[in-house]
Amino acid sequence: MTTLDKETQDSLLEILRLAGKITEVTDYSEDGQTDENAGCRIMPLPPRLWEKAARVAVRTNPVNSPQLELPGVDAPARATLFVSKYWGPQPKQLSVSFLETTPADLRARIVSHLNAWNESAGISFTETAGTGDVRISRGPGGYYSYLGTDIQLIPQNRQTMNLQGFTMNTPEREFRRVIRHEAGHTLGFPHEHMRQALVARIDPAKAYPYFLRTQGWTQEMVDQQVLTPLGASSIIGTEPDQDSIMCYQLPGDITHDGQPIVGGLDINETDAAFAGLIYPKVLHEAATPRGVQAASPSNDWDPSEDRTDV
Ligand SMILES: [Zn+2]
Repeated sequence: MTTLDKETQDSLLEILRLAGKITEVTDYSEDGQTDENAGCRIMPLPPRLWEKAARVAVRTNPVNSPQLELPGVDAPARATLFVSKYWGPQPKQLSVSFLETTPADLRARIVSHLNAWNESAGISFTETAGTGDVRISRGPGGYYSYLGTDIQLIPQNRQTMNLQGFTMNTPEREFRRVIRHEAGHTLGFPHEHMRQALVARIDPAKAYPYFLRTQGWTQEMVDQQVLTPLGASSIIGTEPDQDSIMCYQLPGDITHDGQPIVGGLDINETDAAFAGLIYPKVLHEAATPRGVQAASPSNDWDPSEDRTDV
């Protein structure tokens, strides 16, 4: 066996080993407690569903369609890669159910944190006794959510959001940091740090071993989850915002300058304003000024109303 063959074989074995490790989830404590350093994954759909998910996203909300023309990238590939996953601008309720038996006080507490976005945005979460649009598990798997309209493609017996180990004893700040963040993904918001300006600060040579150690991620997963800036067309919005709830915490030991990217601990003003923009509370302001009767839809009126200024 040549050296190269040996190396290739070792690499393949390493990939298999890591693949096994990822499904075990290494970064969460065994006793089911939450971990305040735990990160989040936006759970990707299986690749076979990517094209369908892009079609569903655009059918749900035509604004999701990618605007960017990329030379050398054909239309279906572009749609799959650069489609956004926002729900439409019409006021919307997503129903929520729980996979495990969950006490009523905990269900209410989780739903109230999901609804923190509803203070500025016209989208809300309501618990259902049936099968919810959003299905929550507190079992193994760490913290994750599928992104926006992708949750429609998840089989109904599976969770769309995972909140490993959350109980009534979990500190309130973790409810804010984790559940509001995962709710943001369900609303279609990607990670704030995946902006070019922030990605540029991360040193891949430091990031690969860091995420291998803390998340069990392969180099490919680090590329996908951390080092790939968002497509320009999927950014409708705000300046890079380290304080955003959608920015997750990245330590100084993976940045070029040694300074941490500080994650947000709660929905900040920019997050709230942006959510209100994507999901307006009121789709169309009533055209009628207060105290004035709307004109009847007729093409004639009393001659006394004829305009004299033209
Ligand atoms: Zn996340």
